[in-house]
Amino acid sequence: MTTQFSEQLVSINPANGQEVGRVDVTSAAELDVIVAKAWQAYRKSGWKDLMPHQRADVLRAIADRLASEKESLAQLQMQDNGKPLSECRGMVDYAVGTFRYYASACETLETEVTPPRGQYVSFTVLEPYGVVAAITPWNSPIMNDATKVAPALAAGNAVILKPSEDSPLLAPELARIALAAGLPAGLLQVVQGHGADVGAALVAHEGVRMISFTGGTVTGRAIGRVAADRVVPVALELGGKSPHIVFDDANIEHAVAAVIAGIFGSAGQSCVAGSRVFVQRSIYQNVLEQIVARASSIRLAAPDSADIEMGPLSSLHHRERIEAFVARAREEGGQILCGGARPEGDEFVKGAYYLPTVIAGLGPDAVSCQEEAFGPVMVVLPFNDESELIEQANGTAFGLACGLWTEDFKKAWRVGRAIEAGSVWVNTYKQSVTSTPFGGFKSSGIGREKGLDGLRLYGQVKSLFFGLQQQPFPVSK
Ligand code: NAD
Repeated sequence: MTTQFSEQLVSINPANGQEVGRVDVTSAAELDVIVAKAWQAYRKSGWKDLMPHQRADVLRAIADRLASEKESLAQLQMQDNGKPLSECRGMVDYAVGTFRYYASACETLETEVTPPRGQYVSFTVLEPYGVVAAITPWNSPIMNDATKVAPALAAGNAVILKPSEDSPLLAPELARIALAAGLPAGLLQVVQGHGADVGAALVAHEGVRMISFTGGTVTGRAIGRVAADRVVPVALELGGKSPHIVFDDANIEHAVAAVIAGIFGSAGQSCVAGSRVFVQRSIYQNVLEQIVARASSIRLAAPDSADIEMGPLSSLHHRERIEAFVARAREEGGQILCGGARPEGDEFVKGAYYLPTVIAGLGPDAVSCQEEAFGPVMVVLPFNDESELIEQANGTAFGLACGLWTEDFKKAWRVGRAIEAGSVWVNTYKQSVTSTPFGGFKSSGIGREKGLDGLRLYGQVKSLFFGLQQQPFPVSK
């Protein structure tokens, strides 16, 4: 939770309202210097000309240093955005794994020798863009930052990282660690400030040759327009309203547990949160009662509590957005079956806490079933059969993820293929790993991060032809 005081952003711990730290906002003049320094480092440091295995050594050194500072980074992340400490430790592990993965990918990535159609040898190489802008949201800073920075560096680029104004403290730590691990100065720099000014200036800067963005769909559209105008490539990882589907032949115990974890983990502040739950009508009432009973018993606590299931939201102003979302669901005729309010108790008074909320009684076209809340709010809908389900599940602008629960693998295959989403989880949920491509269909994004696609994202293919002809070229073939 951050307020801008003149030239600074102030990070506030959303669990207790206390200040965690401050950072200076980057001025327009400083941005020019940072971009120039990035180009200088890109051209002069020798980074892009290192052998891939040599770049990999530095990426592994960054991973090792991140691992050695795991506890302090996790504590800082917890205070910066209020996620449970256990989740923050997991996010640092994720960042470590990401740097290690892209070290290995960097030194093993093969390019193509293409079939010749004349007297030459033809093949491809992957060239870096130069200076890449990486813009990240507040929900999982160290993880989202690593997902962009590690492959962009592996591909030979310089990176300018802009974290969210609501969670500004982790990005400078990553830059500090990278420098200490041997990354040449200037190859990873951080700019700070609000999206509308510093973010917009970064995206529009003529020195930025590629933009990698994770955040909301409205922002993504605005950035996409600028990128189109400038003709620079852009990767957009955007929002979602992911369907989580329970068929009547599912293992109900496992399905209910996953449905609960899918939306109330991270207090719903996850792009892949399963916020639209579809339950087959024959089991609807039974499953809905189990969901409400479990949601009502979720243990809310401070992020560093050992006995926590859900912590606060990331800021008081984000809680206001969630409250407005639930108020609108009420106006639309939604029945709030549990939650829909702040928790009672002295321990919650200063923090941005909100109760796990389950809403039923709305049709699939209700605004509350179409728009992302990005909080602990689930809408539950009944469906009759597979074809109705597919139509309704696909009936939003988004297409980020989907979970489905059935013991029938042929049905899982049919439905999994018919769903318009970048990730489909069958009898599991929220598996999002460094080694598997991730991204959205429709308004959930463009491009794929993670996996080898996530490395190729940060390079441009160049085709090279080496002539073998013995005779001079004829004017006309
Ligand atoms: P946001 O779009 O408000 O901000 C994201 C980042 O963009 C911040 O750093 C912000 O300062 C910057 N920004 C804002 N306006 C900008 C502009 N005009 N030009 C350049 N930069 C700008 O999103 P948020 O509230 O920080 O994050 C929540 C959203 O992120 C949700 O919609 C969520 O689904 C999405 N998200 C998506 C993924 C994914 O991988 N698909 C992952 C996490 C979060």
